[in-house]
Amino acid sequence: MSLIVVGSMAFDAIETPFGKSDKIVGGAATYIAWSASNFSQPINQISVVGGDFPNEELKALKGRGVNLDGVQIKPDKKSFFWSGRYHLDMNTRDTLETQLNVLGEFDPVVPDSFQGSEFLMLGNLAPSVQLSVIAQLKNRPKLIVLDTMNFWMESAMEDLEKVLKQVDVLMVNDSEARQLSAQFSLVKAAKEIMKMGPKYLIIKKGEHGALLFHENQVFFAPALPLEEVFDPTGAGDTFAGGFIGHIAHTRDISFENMKTGIIVGSAMASFCVEKFGTTRLREISRADIDIRIQQFVDLVNFDIALV
Ligand code: AMP
Repeated sequence: MSLIVVGSMAFDAIETPFGKSDKIVGGAATYIAWSASNFSQPINQISVVGGDFPNEELKALKGRGVNLDGVQIKPDKKSFFWSGRYHLDMNTRDTLETQLNVLGEFDPVVPDSFQGSEFLMLGNLAPSVQLSVIAQLKNRPKLIVLDTMNFWMESAMEDLEKVLKQVDVLMVNDSEARQLSAQFSLVKAAKEIMKMGPKYLIIKKGEHGALLFHENQVFFAPALPLEEVFDPTGAGDTFAGGFIGHIAHTRDISFENMKTGIIVGSAMASFCVEKFGTTRLREISRADIDIRIQQFVDLVNFDIALV
């Protein structure tokens, strides 16, 4: 059940049509850890933060079974900062600012105690860092999952192509899939992307659910229709955490089990968007999660009699 999570730990500033946050804790690996730790512990976390990153956040993560031995703290430097503004549909957003700060010169070191981990979740950060982590592992994990975004396609495509060749599952959103493949049809995009390396591809479509592709098979998981979406930031990472948390818990990497994984991921993402930042993820219990997963089952369950 051992899982390594790599990704940014950050400060975010978020604007939605309905409100604005101050600088709050975010980052891909932060959301992944809050989400995945509901299913699998410990989480072996690899990241970097500055001296400005709140100690209470690190303590809270530790309390959730997150092993921070792989998180470097640079006392005199600033943490990664990202700010974004959502459009009225809350499904699309513009990045207003990305300050790499400590992430710009991050040289990850995989602690010895993390060696032998069975699962690797490469959350969003520089592809060169993702490559370095893979290279340091003495045994290849059973499953390597990669998340990335347009920022890296635009600034580090060569490294991204290299890392794509080494992973099993890629997760991107629909616009990133189109950008990566230069195809508008998501089915054509999936075919092109699977030629680049990953055998499985998950395309996230925000409030329109997620698609899982493998060879000629496709599976669709809806998103829960919610009355209010407060802040979609981190929904993709929370989805990733639910997916890999479920896979690490069950230790089953079949396509069938990945289908369950994307339902679990979608259920976790539906909590994330209910409040700003990681607030909602800190509140929920395993019982809340089970009820939410059942709502997903009920949402798509129907009998049909064909005559
Ligand atoms: P998501 O909404 O799931 O796509 O992820 C949002 C999170 O990604 C935020 O908490 C940001 O701190 C983080 N993030 C944004 N841009 C980057 C980037 N270029 N590299 C790493 N993390 C990022």
